[in-house]
Amino acid sequence: MSDELTVERAAVRRLAGKDAAAWDLAGVIPRQILRELGAAGVLCAELPKEYGGLGAGSLASGEFTAYVGSVCSSLRSVLTSHGMAAWTIQRLGTREQRAALLPELVGGRLAAVAFSESDAGSDLSAIRTELRFVDDTVIIDGSKSWITAAAYADLVIVFGKVGDNAAAVVVPTDAPGVEVEKIAHPLGCRAAGHAHVRLADVRLPIANVLGGTGLSLSLLATTALAYGRMSVGWGCVGILRGCLAAVTDHARTRVQFGKPLAEHQLVSRLVAELYIAEQIATRACQHASQCWESGSPEVVIATVLAKHVSATQAMHGAASAMQVMASAGASDGHVVARAYRDAKLMEIIEGSSEICQLELAKHAIATAEATRRAAQ
Ligand SMILES: Cc1cc2nc3c(=O)[nH]c(=O)nc-3n(C[C@H](O)[C@H](O)[C@H](O)COP(=O)(O)OP(=O)(O)OC[C@H]3O[C@@H](n4cnc5c(N)ncnc54)[C@H](O)[C@@H]3O)c2cc1C
Repeated sequence: MSDELTVERAAVRRLAGKDAAAWDLAGVIPRQILRELGAAGVLCAELPKEYGGLGAGSLASGEFTAYVGSVCSSLRSVLTSHGMAAWTIQRLGTREQRAALLPELVGGRLAAVAFSESDAGSDLSAIRTELRFVDDTVIIDGSKSWITAAAYADLVIVFGKVGDNAAAVVVPTDAPGVEVEKIAHPLGCRAAGHAHVRLADVRLPIANVLGGTGLSLSLLATTALAYGRMSVGWGCVGILRGCLAAVTDHARTRVQFGKPLAEHQLVSRLVAELYIAEQIATRACQHASQCWESGSPEVVIATVLAKHVSATQAMHGAASAMQVMASAGASDGHVVARAYRDAKLMEIIEGSSEICQLELAKHAIATAEATRRAAQ
């Protein structure tokens, strides 16, 4: 494991290590802790140093994300949303917008990213949030669903339609017309601050629009989701590592029928399955991060693959972990109980498993076709 970001790991351990179960049960992370971690640059570690970030590479940041995910998937979800917002501003914002907004995000202001709507989940082309421009003002009307970290956020990056095109607007959550409604009792990542965000006649300066109004929605989505998928993939590695730590300890020490669980072959098969899941997910994420760092043209598909593989392995591995822990892991708040619930959501967000499979199949067919043509 990379030993970079060790100070930041220590900060996460100090602030989250013993409280993750309590946060899960309460459905909330104390805002002060999020602000402290944000101000330590921990929630967007890849942001360049010129903006006050840690300037971490994708691999180091990925390992750090996995560490956070092994401690608390709710915190990791907040980190993913905040990091995705920072990445989106970095990619789409003008020099002035980057200079104004990014230091705020490393100064402890929290941000989220809002695409989804009640009728636009997998199919983002169905987005109905409308952006209108009058003189130097953008007017926003719409409603966003299931926005991770929105309950904590000071800013939400809202994606909306501008005629046939699209744009992304930085919306302060205290702007008149913005209403944030926290979702009660989500299945998993219960303290991640999921919320619906309603925007009624929200009027903001045009300077809040990132990178112009004539962009295609698919370009905007691909930009933001690339970071989100990488981060979720590494978060799933963390889920598996959290399970592995708990399960190996339990299997060694829990005695049934006169010997440790680990010496019962059917149990050790489950431990092996969990270990294999962690290794597969790690390799897929490492490959994607290497593509990211080297600027490989394969980065987009490698990231889809990493997210899909890691999410499915996390679900599979968490189920194996629960089976080994049995009643010892069956209490709400236990690291393996949380993993079992949190992992399922990872198969739904940032492009569900089915949407990832469609993209992977399309890529496989296009690659095979290109190979055939090249051989002719
Ligand atoms: C915990 C959580 C956090 C979230 N965080 C955010 C966030 O921060 N920001 C944000 O914008 N959104 C967020 N979302 C929303 C998330 O992006 C959507 O839930 C996701 O895109 C799926 O959309 P949906 O739930 O409407 O399901 P639907 O699109 O209705 O899909 C239902 C099922 O049908 C499948 N399906 C749909 N279309 C196809 C197809 N063409 N082929 C095969 N299968 C298909 C899907 O894979 C899924 O299994 C979050 C959701 C959850 C649950």
